[in-house]
Amino acid sequence: MDSKVLVIGGGIAGPVTAVALQQAGLQPVLYEAYGRGSDGIGAFLTLAVNGIDALGAVGLREPVERLGMETPGMTMVSGRGKHLGTLPMQARTVSRSDLYQVLRDEAVRRGVVIEYGKRLVDAETRDSGVRAVFSDGTSAEGDVLVGADGLRSRARSIIDPGAPPARHIGLLNTGGYARGLRPAGDPGVAHFVFGRRCFFGYFIHPDDDVWWFANPPSRREPTREQLVAIASEQWRARLVDLFADDQGPMLDIIAATDEIFPGWNTYDFPSVPRWHDDRMVIIGDAVHATSPSSGQGASLAIEDAVLLAMCLRDHTDSPAAFRTFEALRRDRVERVVKHGKRSGDGKADGPVKARIRDLVLPALMRRMTAKGSLDWMFDYRIDWDASVSETGSATTVRAGGRP
Ligand SMILES: Cc1cc2nc3c(=O)[nH]c(=O)nc-3n(C[C@H](O)[C@H](O)[C@H](O)COP(=O)(O)OP(=O)(O)OC[C@H]3O[C@@H](n4cnc5c(N)ncnc54)[C@H](O)[C@@H]3O)c2cc1C
Repeated sequence: MDSKVLVIGGGIAGPVTAVALQQAGLQPVLYEAYGRGSDGIGAFLTLAVNGIDALGAVGLREPVERLGMETPGMTMVSGRGKHLGTLPMQARTVSRSDLYQVLRDEAVRRGVVIEYGKRLVDAETRDSGVRAVFSDGTSAEGDVLVGADGLRSRARSIIDPGAPPARHIGLLNTGGYARGLRPAGDPGVAHFVFGRRCFFGYFIHPDDDVWWFANPPSRREPTREQLVAIASEQWRARLVDLFADDQGPMLDIIAATDEIFPGWNTYDFPSVPRWHDDRMVIIGDAVHATSPSSGQGASLAIEDAVLLAMCLRDHTDSPAAFRTFEALRRDRVERVVKHGKRSGDGKADGPVKARIRDLVLPALMRRMTAKGSLDWMFDYRIDWDASVSETGSATTVRAGGRP
């Protein structure tokens, strides 16, 4: 196809899609709802090896590898101080705002036009293309529209007004950056603590702060307004109480943090029935948000972006491109979402289940490492030079284990 593509959303999937489309010889224009700044988009995330590799397919690996810290492994302990397991990893932990900024800067450097303050409110499909309408009253026309507009995607509900809402997972998120202390542990490694009443994760930056997060369980789904209303000091008091009976550096890390992040809920989508119509398609969190416990949301969004661009490159009509894209992606992303949900559930175990977990997890982790049972997730490689066929044949993908 030689088309103008309206890409909605300037988070992770959007800019990578725009860069990939341009590399494929198409003409993307990116529309982002907010202004140029990237405040309020959360704390940090870990990019897995599969996501980093997909960035490499479109020349974005190098700028991203300058950010944050290398994460060579993960170690887990219980709140009683029992070592539960260690997994080697090839990953990078980066601040979300830095990542957004670098991806957008790279897109602009390569000549992609980004329009800010453009919130998609509607879109209509015509024989010859698609017209997007924005909240400021303006509109844009293109051949196809890619909805990379995140968890609360408007594009998703335009494609399918009956699309299911996101599922609330009973975990909250907060965290921060602690200054002036060096807890035990290796730099960059993901240190996870299954506390008696709350899960905690921290990463020691080699020459900077300690980056941390906590997942207080919450069966109830607080509104965004309720979460924003919880002040930093209220979070501090709540977390100090939650970790009071646990071993580990949590209380020191919390005390060394000036400002604790406002909280946010956790959601996922087990399965979104309609991914596309003839002219519009959704990618990234818009179509398969996964629990942060999978550590894969950003990486899947990047994989989507690269593969969608290849599908649009290799098909003369958009329905065939979108069918191929879905065929290549659906099984994999739904499997990751399932895996993320299971991992997240383990963070909110009651005392009885927690005791069982502490007994079985060490052996399970050893088996997982020996058998490589997560290879299907991490060993996923995209070959930019391969062509993608309408049957969704995996000629583009070298996957260790099932795709
Ligand atoms: C607490 C937390 C921790 C996480 N940890 C990890 C992790 O460790 N590893 C990992 O891989 N992933 C993690 N993730 C997930 C990861 O952040 C997401 O999967 C990823 O950001 C998805 O990228 P995206 O581009 O699809 O959506 P987003 O990054 O959400 O981007 C969507 C963009 O669309 C814009 N937008 C929204 N609506 C409109 C509209 N109507 N019109 C125009 N623009 C619009 C938004 O402003 C935004 O810029 C975490 C997420 C959370 C919340």
